[in-house]
Amino acid sequence: MEDIIIVGSGFSGSILAREIAEKLNRKVLVLEKRPHIGGNAYDEYDEYGILIQRYGPHYLNTNNYKIIKYLSNFAELYPHDAKLLSYIDNEYVQLPFNYRTMQQLVGFENSERLLKLMRESFKGRDRVPIFELLYNEHEEIQNYGNLLFEKAFKTYTAKQWGLSPDQIDKSVIERVPMAMNFDERYLNKDFQYLPKKGFTEIFKNMLNHPNITLKTDVDALSYLELDEKNKKVIYKGRDVKLLVFTGAIDDLFHKKHGQLPYRSLNIEYEYYDVDSKLPCEIISYPQAEGYTRSTEYKKITLNCRAECTVVATEYPLEYDPNSDIANTPYYPTLTKESMEMYEKYKAESEKYGNIILCGRLAEFRYYNMDVCIEHALEKFEEVKKYLEEN
Ligand code: UDP
Repeated sequence: MEDIIIVGSGFSGSILAREIAEKLNRKVLVLEKRPHIGGNAYDEYDEYGILIQRYGPHYLNTNNYKIIKYLSNFAELYPHDAKLLSYIDNEYVQLPFNYRTMQQLVGFENSERLLKLMRESFKGRDRVPIFELLYNEHEEIQNYGNLLFEKAFKTYTAKQWGLSPDQIDKSVIERVPMAMNFDERYLNKDFQYLPKKGFTEIFKNMLNHPNITLKTDVDALSYLELDEKNKKVIYKGRDVKLLVFTGAIDDLFHKKHGQLPYRSLNIEYEYYDVDSKLPCEIISYPQAEGYTRSTEYKKITLNCRAECTVVATEYPLEYDPNSDIANTPYYPTLTKESMEMYEKYKAESEKYGNIILCGRLAEFRYYNMDVCIEHALEKFEEVKKYLEEN
């Protein structure tokens, strides 16, 4: 019987399950609420052979080659640099917002002096957060920063988060810095890859181990009990040695400190009887009404022979566990209040000593895939120590 329970089979849950099963030779039970594994990185082929990431586009980007090597144990990867465009003032401009975007938005003539000033101001810098433009000493740079902020960040952020930029944690907006060059790669990490047959294969292979029992369609929370008085975690009447929880942390404590805000997405798919629909794999629409982003998955499906194509468009919504369309949490909404609420839940979990929180939902962090993987591997060291000592 397994006395180590892992709730969730996304990157955090699957990596910890695999590490515990393989390196410690311990049995683990993985409980997944959804009918499929992989969390929000789940993907599947549609009937035309197009690989669709059901919860929006995911890329593996890292400066740490160890992560690539680790995932290569579970699936074959291929290098892929994501190149995006943004649709601003009825025109496609470069995303990342780079020097070309600047020329597109202010005109070639005006861009000349701006380019010179930027090169001087940000010498040796590859990418610079928008805030550094806004607060730059040169008025021209500030003005361009303001233009970009108004046209590309303010409206996108309002839709994506339902908040104004000053309400959301600065780190969220800093995720999309300006490139101080003509680099067309959306992200500037050294190693950028995708799995040849999709992410789901990685999870299948990770969870395929004799020490791992996987149960999908099981809501762990209806079987887990937290005995606050004796600081025990109980599953189906039996004591649990270790609980690795990767779901939304407020659910584990029955929202006793309130509901943490997460954003959700409603993704609409439109099929077209043409070979190609969009000018690149992802378009960001800061100025459009209601939606933020469209992805043409055929452009990121390796060896795709489909004669048609599909465009998936994301409509952000407030996460609501009781709604039909917004009941999947995607992103933690990082505000001062929500981060304070999270700390209360974290303190709650620490009282037990045998609850490990891991991942975007449980730790209320906007982890990128590489950081999430790295972090799960680090958490394993914590788990190992705990199991050796207890
Ligand atoms: N963002 C923006 N305009 C864009 C793209 C991104 O303002 O055209 C901001 C926005 O606040 C968004 C954040 O950058 O929430 C993160 O974007 P990213 O592409 O990293 O989102 P993810 O891929 O994680 O969904």
